[in-house]
Amino acid sequence: MDMKWILGVVKSVKYVSIVRHFHGSKITMASHIVGYPRMGPKRELKFALESFWDGKSSAEELQKVAANLRTSIWKQMADTGIKYIPSNTFSYYDQVLDTTAMLGAVPPRYNWTGGEIGFDTYFSMARGNASVPAMEMTKWFDTNYHFIVPELGPDVKFSYASHKAVDEYKEAKSLGVDTVPVLIGPVTYLLLSKPAKGVEKTFPLLSLLGKILPVYKEVIAELKAAGASWIQFDEPTLVKDLESHQLEAFTKAYAELESSLSGLNVLIETYFADVPVDAFKTLTALKGVSAFGFDLVRGTQTLDLIKGGFPSDKYLFAGVVDGRNIWANDLASSLSILQTLEGIVGKDKLVVSTSTSLLHTAVDLVNEPKLDKEIKSWLAFAAQKVVEVNALAKALAGQKDEAFFSANAEAQASRKSSPRVNNDAVQKAAAALKGSDHRRATNVSARLDAQQKKLNLPILPTTTIGSFPQTIELRRVRREYKAKKISEEEYVKAIKEEINKVVKIQEELDIDVLVHGEPERNDMVEYFGEQLSGFAFTANGWVQSYGSRCVKPPIIYGDVSRPKSMTVFWSTAAQSMTKRPMKGMLTGPVTILNWSFVRNDQPRFETCYQIALAIKDEVEDLEKAGITVIQIDEAALREGLPLRKSEHAFYLDWAVHSFRITNVGVLDTTQIHTHMCYSNFNDIIHSIIDMDADVITIENSRSDEKLLSVFREGVKYGAGIGPGVYDIHSPRIPSTEEIADRINKMLAVLETNILWVNPDCGLKTRKYTEVKPALQNMVAAAKQLRTQLASAK
Ligand code: GLN
Ligand code: ZN
Repeated sequence: MDMKWILGVVKSVKYVSIVRHFHGSKITMASHIVGYPRMGPKRELKFALESFWDGKSSAEELQKVAANLRTSIWKQMADTGIKYIPSNTFSYYDQVLDTTAMLGAVPPRYNWTGGEIGFDTYFSMARGNASVPAMEMTKWFDTNYHFIVPELGPDVKFSYASHKAVDEYKEAKSLGVDTVPVLIGPVTYLLLSKPAKGVEKTFPLLSLLGKILPVYKEVIAELKAAGASWIQFDEPTLVKDLESHQLEAFTKAYAELESSLSGLNVLIETYFADVPVDAFKTLTALKGVSAFGFDLVRGTQTLDLIKGGFPSDKYLFAGVVDGRNIWANDLASSLSILQTLEGIVGKDKLVVSTSTSLLHTAVDLVNEPKLDKEIKSWLAFAAQKVVEVNALAKALAGQKDEAFFSANAEAQASRKSSPRVNNDAVQKAAAALKGSDHRRATNVSARLDAQQKKLNLPILPTTTIGSFPQTIELRRVRREYKAKKISEEEYVKAIKEEINKVVKIQEELDIDVLVHGEPERNDMVEYFGEQLSGFAFTANGWVQSYGSRCVKPPIIYGDVSRPKSMTVFWSTAAQSMTKRPMKGMLTGPVTILNWSFVRNDQPRFETCYQIALAIKDEVEDLEKAGITVIQIDEAALREGLPLRKSEHAFYLDWAVHSFRITNVGVLDTTQIHTHMCYSNFNDIIHSIIDMDADVITIENSRSDEKLLSVFREGVKYGAGIGPGVYDIHSPRIPSTEEIADRINKMLAVLETNILWVNPDCGLKTRKYTEVKPALQNMVAAAKQLRTQLASAK
């Protein structure tokens, strides 16, 4: 992407109001935004970052794009009338990594020699460099955002090494916008970190509090000197199930910071869920703190806690506008909640806010010219949410914008009654599933016997997860077909040729159960969403996943149904090219749900059941068409697990039930596979067993084979299982010995007759030059072990 183009776009997104004066001319209402997306309305930051990383543009050019994006965000908020505008919520990569930089906690392998941390060190930590790999990345709470995990230990020397928070505060100020600088709170920072390599796993990370607080104090002092009157500490770990010593750390930390913070208004922001009762008590008793922010969208019980007692003279930042979804707020209902809260905390102490940072939603509805008008009226992206927050604050202050509220009420009503949302038949069918239990009639070992009679597979059967390399040529074919530049006939021909190529490769490699390679799919959720009713797609509804990577989740706005079969055409075509079994390949209901923006007008499980019924129809159509092995991917089942343990059982119950619904109707001889690819299954292994799939292929090699320990500890697994034998995230080609070694480890804990041999995940991000030799070695390892096992008998 051309840098000039990027800068041009960034300039054009600046608001007309930029020329206006902010100070004094505008009366601001008690309104606040927790944080804002950084990528820009058209992913300008992504392109600027990637261009810089590729050496195609300079650091100055990247900084300029970033500065322009920040400016336009601040100005937009100021112009809307937001009183508490955040700064330091921008990041070149990740806000946790920014905090690591602020604290100078650079792991020694990056050879940082002190001084202000620049792009070199910063991006090396984020992405690795020629000689050192990146730091570990993991999911930010239950979102799809990933942060860089701090690596700490007793020997880390903390020092104030990135002045970003202060610089951004000053930058906004010079533009006439007095912001609330945001820092990740010290306790959350430590609770999210891990012991560095070589440090005992049991090292108490919270013991570092005394070492990082001095740096926080320096930052606070500089912010004060620069003129800040508010400061926000994000402490979202307060919504987790914390132990009492962890809660005490909050008390200690803020008591220690109290004198440095004097003269500042201090806001502690929590989000993503309810704050548990004991945490609420700790939080509201913190010294030196003047304001508390709560997520009132996901936190459904916080309201009662506040009603039960809120400290007098403290501010309540009420997160009523959903930061994690794309739906327009129900303003009337929010206003009534706010009025209740006003009765508790008093008129001048209530501030209207977003439930979380807007980082987790799409940027601006303005860039969706193709979304139809009705659906658009139901939506609000980040830019629109800023306006909603302000409208609510104005209404509270007695200046209700009647026109805005009534347009909103109208949109809410149209969404409730729209025939595009409601499908009676689907609702009835889904409702009938509640409280019932769907299980295949025969138990898994009998089913496996019946399937083996039909499939006649060797022991340690080999397979892959579904996708094969997605070449530039393939992407071009799909794009041109979508743009109607090539005919359907040409498209089908090209895709069939690709499938044929993939089939031939697998036969040559002598793989036992084949896949068609998924060449017709851009994305495992979008592909199905596009063919189901009740889904809408955006052009620019991107959400940051990590670094410069963004995802564009589909929007589920209505009852889900399947007008016609979605995969039968391609699967039968692929099956006709080989005598070996060809796996049908579907995405499961829980994964489709968890990777979409889900409607908020009914419980998530209801939407999930509807998707399950659609996938069930597809499974049965595949079976009728002669497909005997069907894989239903549930890559995202684990990540939907709620933050609070008390909610796990309920989620797992309906998620697993949804999966079973999809295949309850098949014959014993039809083999149902599923696939999962996020480590840390051990705590939900019983739910995985309860999915009752015939075969599960599962990520294993990237997480140091942690998975196997659960079987070592005695969990019985009777269905087929294929723990990945090599990591597909890396271009490295594993040797036959290495794979054989892995399989041997598995054989030590799992029965020979249930073990499958397969990679960790799909191969779409790899090159053929990597995939072919890797699979060759994989098959060779399987064969080697078959021979060994046969001679050992
Ligand atoms: N079948 C999909 C593929 O191979 C699964 C992807 C995933 O698990 N994320 O690409
Ligand atoms: Zn996977």
